[in-house]
Amino acid sequence: MQVFMNQPVASRITELAHAMRHVMTYIDESAYIVKSTDPCVSNFALGNPQDMPLTGVVDALKHAVEPRNKDWFAYKLSEPESQEVVAASLREELGIPFEPDDIAMTNGAFGALAVAIQVVVDPGDEVIFNLPPWFFYENMVVSAGGVPVKVPVDRNTFDLDLNAIERAITPRTRAIIVNTPNNPTGKIYPPETLERLAAMLTGASHRHGRPIYLISDEPYRRIVFEGNTFHSPLAFYPYAMMTYSYGKVLLTPGERIGYLALPPSMPDRKQLRAAIRTVQFTGGFLFPNATLQHAIADLDTMSIDIERLQRKRDRMVEALREIGYEVHVPQGTFYLLPKSPWDDDWAFMRLLEKHDILCLPGTVLEFPGFFRISLTASEEMIEWSLPGFESAFQYARMQPSPAGTDGI
Ligand code: PLP
Repeated sequence: MQVFMNQPVASRITELAHAMRHVMTYIDESAYIVKSTDPCVSNFALGNPQDMPLTGVVDALKHAVEPRNKDWFAYKLSEPESQEVVAASLREELGIPFEPDDIAMTNGAFGALAVAIQVVVDPGDEVIFNLPPWFFYENMVVSAGGVPVKVPVDRNTFDLDLNAIERAITPRTRAIIVNTPNNPTGKIYPPETLERLAAMLTGASHRHGRPIYLISDEPYRRIVFEGNTFHSPLAFYPYAMMTYSYGKVLLTPGERIGYLALPPSMPDRKQLRAAIRTVQFTGGFLFPNATLQHAIADLDTMSIDIERLQRKRDRMVEALREIGYEVHVPQGTFYLLPKSPWDDDWAFMRLLEKHDILCLPGTVLEFPGFFRISLTASEEMIEWSLPGFESAFQYARMQPSPAGTDGI
C-alpha cells in the first residue's frame, strides 16, 4: 500500500481543535472520564444531570413518539407548530411580539449559536465575547473564519466591563455574544448595563457603517433565583438575536432542541430568515428531530425544580463560606464560581479529585484562580463533598501550590 506523506485531515481542523483545547484538555487529562460515572464521586464538573429525568419530560416524549400520520417521522425543518409554540411562549415571557416565522428551531443553543455566527460573520470579521466564556464560542467563531476578541468581565462584580468592550470594538467588529444569566458567573446583566451596551453598539455601528449584531445566548433564562429578574438584551437593542436551549431548564442536554429567534425590531428579517435556513441545510440539517418538535408544546411548559436548585445553591454557598472559601451568590444558572485557594486552579482541582470531588478549573474557562461547581449534583453528593472541600482547603492553606503542575 502506498504511504502518503500529506495530512490525513483538512488543515483547518488543527485551528478548530486549538480553539476548543481548554475543555478538551480537561476531559482528556483530568480524572473526569475515569471518575464521573462512579456513584461515590461528587460530580460537579459539567452541567450533566445527576438525578433521574423529570417524569413529565418522559411522558411528553413517549406521547410524541407515537405516530399520528404518515409524515410523523418525515424530514422536519422548523415546523410551523413548533414556531407557533415558541413565539407565543416568548411573547408571554418577554413581552416582545415575536412572529412564528422568525423562530428557527435548532439543535439546542449549541446549534443556534453555530447558525447565528455563520449567518453574520465573514472571514476576518471580529466577534467579541466575554471571559469567562462558554467553551465553544471561540471554536464557532473560528469555524466561520472570524476572529475571536476576548474581553474579561469585571472580576469583582462579574458585570460586563463596558469600557473594555468599547476599547475592543474596531471597524471589523461584526458581533458580540452576551450570555445572561451567565455560565459560569451566574450573573444576570442589569438593565443599566444593557442600555449602555446598546448605546455603545449603536454608536459604533453608525461610525463604522454596518451593524454590530448582538447574539444573546440565553439558555439559562428560566433558571433565575428568588429576588432576581431576567432582562433580555433583545429589549434594548434592535440588532439582537436570541439563542436558546431546552436542555438546561429540563436538564436534558442530550435531547437536542432549542431555537434561534429574531425579534420584530430586527431590520432585514426576511433576508436573515432565508440565510438561517440556508446555513441549517449547509451545516448538515441543523434542525431538531421530529419527536422533539412534536413534544415541544408540552416541553415548553416544564421546568426542573428551581426552588430545590436554590436550596442546593444556598447550602453549598453557606458551607463553602464557613470553611473559608470566597464564593459569590449566583443570581441564576446552576453554577458556583468560588476562588481557588491556590492560584493554580488546575493543581487545586487535582487535590479535590483525591477527595473524590470533580470540579472544573477556572483555567479551562480562561478565568484562572477560580473553579466551577455545577449544582446539578444531588444533595447527597453535596453533603459527601463537604469534608473533602474542607480538607482540601486546609491543606492548600498550609502548603504552597505545587510547582510545575501540568495545567493548561
Ligand atoms: N450557551 C451556554 C452559555 C451554555 O452554557 C451552553 C451549554 O452548556 C450552551 C450555550 C449550549 O447549550 P445546549 O448544549 O443545551 O445546546
